[in-house]
Amino acid sequence: MSAKVYLLGWPVGHSLSPRMHEAAFRTLGLDWSYSVIGVRPRQLARVLADLSLDPAFRGANVTIPHKRAVLGLLAEADSGARALGAVNVISRRDDGNLWGHNTDCSGFLGALTSLRFRPQGSRCLILGAGGAARACVFALGTAGAAALRVVSRRPEQSWRLVRDLRPSLAEHAPQAVLEAGSWDELRAGPGKWFGEARGRRRGDGGMLVVNATPVGMWPDDARSPLTPADVARIPEGTLVYDLVYNPPRTRLVRIAMGAGLPASGGEEMLVLQGAAALEHWLGKPLSAEIAAVMRRALAAATEEVPTCSAT
Ligand code: NAP
Repeated sequence: MSAKVYLLGWPVGHSLSPRMHEAAFRTLGLDWSYSVIGVRPRQLARVLADLSLDPAFRGANVTIPHKRAVLGLLAEADSGARALGAVNVISRRDDGNLWGHNTDCSGFLGALTSLRFRPQGSRCLILGAGGAARACVFALGTAGAAALRVVSRRPEQSWRLVRDLRPSLAEHAPQAVLEAGSWDELRAGPGKWFGEARGRRRGDGGMLVVNATPVGMWPDDARSPLTPADVARIPEGTLVYDLVYNPPRTRLVRIAMGAGLPASGGEEMLVLQGAAALEHWLGKPLSAEIAAVMRRALAAATEEVPTCSAT
């Protein structure tokens, strides 16, 4: 039976997710479609209610700015999504109930693994405090990070993230120290927080800066959440990971590389979270070959269409 899958977000522009998922559907011999729906925050509840009534609706990806809000609109969510308070994948059960999942965590950790970054004992600075930032914090904490600092332009947002996630981290990652900081403090110098790291010993974990804001995403791709002066104060060897994947080399990634730091955009995370989403819709694990198909489709789409947006 043909089934329908959607991407729900605002803005969604010319997303590359359809190309990636359609390639996987073809390889699996599925007569499925993947379409993008631009959904403003006030439309979200109505759109979900309508989709739940359509028997052909199999599931959806959820992107900015709905990952937090969607949690309260679903019949149920799995324990990981509830623990971090954000959903990026919806699946429709046979009874029409919509379930929430989060595949950003596994996608993010998989991408770090491919870059040979070990979260154990690491110090991590996360820029942004929305749905993706929550997934990164939870993923890093449960993978063994020692210290996590979340910085947002509205300080109350990072405080809320810390307040919400501390109980889950205390249970699943008691070693992780989670703190909130403000963008103003960051502007005063990211090196201040990383400064303590200079006296670190061999065997201590690595250092990581994550951009979990949309700053630098097409069409505003001339922007970066950190200036070259900010980046110059980040200690040598720190990995800079930008969740933004379009353009593939964001301005932040270029600034970091120019400063001699290892850096990556969010393409591999997009592939891995997308493959995990497909497993939820199908209700079964998939071979690594499907992720490889999605990776190739994304690479081809990025070359052809240099300017596209969001997940
Ligand atoms: P979100 O829930 O809307 O959160 C975005 C965060 O960024 C919020 O803290 C927001 O603060 C902040 N922000 C927005 N504009 C900003 C600006 N100009 N300056 C400073 N902070 C700003 O979005 P999300 O779902 O977490 O996604 C964040 C980014 O990650 C998006 O670009 C998304 O495409 C990307 N992402 C990529 C992947 C991947 O697989 N590669 C996966 C997930 C997400 P305010 O609330 O104050 O606006």
